[in-house]
Amino acid sequence: MAISRTARRLEGIGSTIFAEMSALAVRTGSVNLGQGFPDADGPPAVIEAAVEAMRSGRNQYPPGRGTPDLLDAVIAHQQRHYGISLDRSQVVATTGATEAIAGALLGLVDPGDEVVMLEPYYDSYVAVLQMAGGVRRPVTLRAPSFRLDIDALRNAVTSKTKLILLNTPHNPTGTVLTLAELEAVAAVAIEHDLIVVTDEVYEHLVFDGREHIPLATLPGMFDRTLTISSAGKSFSFTGWKVGWASGPASLVAAVEGAKNWLSYSSGAPLQPAVAVALNHHDDFPLALTKELQDKRDRLCDGLSTLDMDVFVPQGTYFVTTDVSRYGYPDGRAFCEALPARAGVVAIPSQVFYDDQAEGGQLVRWAFCKEVGVIDEGLRRLRSGL
Ligand code: PMP
Ligand code: GLN
Repeated sequence: MAISRTARRLEGIGSTIFAEMSALAVRTGSVNLGQGFPDADGPPAVIEAAVEAMRSGRNQYPPGRGTPDLLDAVIAHQQRHYGISLDRSQVVATTGATEAIAGALLGLVDPGDEVVMLEPYYDSYVAVLQMAGGVRRPVTLRAPSFRLDIDALRNAVTSKTKLILLNTPHNPTGTVLTLAELEAVAAVAIEHDLIVVTDEVYEHLVFDGREHIPLATLPGMFDRTLTISSAGKSFSFTGWKVGWASGPASLVAAVEGAKNWLSYSSGAPLQPAVAVALNHHDDFPLALTKELQDKRDRLCDGLSTLDMDVFVPQGTYFVTTDVSRYGYPDGRAFCEALPARAGVVAIPSQVFYDDQAEGGQLVRWAFCKEVGVIDEGLRRLRSGL
């Protein structure tokens, strides 16, 4: 009998639900409305920039901090979009936002420290926090509106709280935090002298003329906020895994201190290409957002004709529905039955919840797919469900 020798820090942490569900889609020939990756690649000129970087010899280890051209491009991006002024000591490049999150939690959280975070939570937060020995304190965004409950946020803070981990626009609910909500977060952080790590990978993907407001722009917040983003979502290069963290030098140094021992560095030719994307292709996320808004409406309208409640998102490329009327014990059972029943794959949001009463029947659908794929998915759902 094989003996499991896996360390306790990984106990209960399975493989990622995204990998699991994408494998299920391939195995069953299903339409994949699960894992959030776009069908179409980002700007061809950016791909050319990566090819050119490879041809011109940018193929050895880049600096752990990141290539200067990428750091400068992130600095210019934060200034141009948000009026945030940074220098090179205040940015670190990472292997996707995932490594920035890991670096932040491993670099800032001691065993026993509590982290207040929005539930449902992106899965890597839970895994890495457990590896760091930290304890999560959820603040649940509840259907149908998925707004931030300020009292719940206040109540979640204890004398052990080390930081607040925020995510806006929020995966999987699509909530975009308003200025008033962010002001409330800022007030709590300042009152209790907390750091905030804010995952803003969907910063450009907000709909209906809404605005994404980085928490770091609020009065008194820059010095206590670490902001995380990546090229994956804004430029449709999810597989490049080029991300970054920015903020006060001491917080950035904590991320770098951990990431030096994770990847050290990665993506030598991809970092300069992402610099080109950031410097010259502001139009790409704008056009993508316009397209995604139409696709959101298309998928939401289609799902509304089925027997489920649809919660229209304000940002990201995901929509959440409540599938309880189909009578499955939970969303996972629904999603596991879906390929055979309808030839479609979706994500059971319950895996992002501790509170199963709240998340047990919620299912997430991705609309960052070609129109034909969305339509085929809907056609199958209509005939199979
Ligand atoms: N945070 C959130 C909220 C996400 O949805 C994702 C998935 N893209 C990530 C982080 C990870 O980003 P990356 O692919 O750049 O590692
Ligand atoms: N962020 C993507 C999603 O939410 C998937 C990322 C991953 O596969 N780890 O679907």
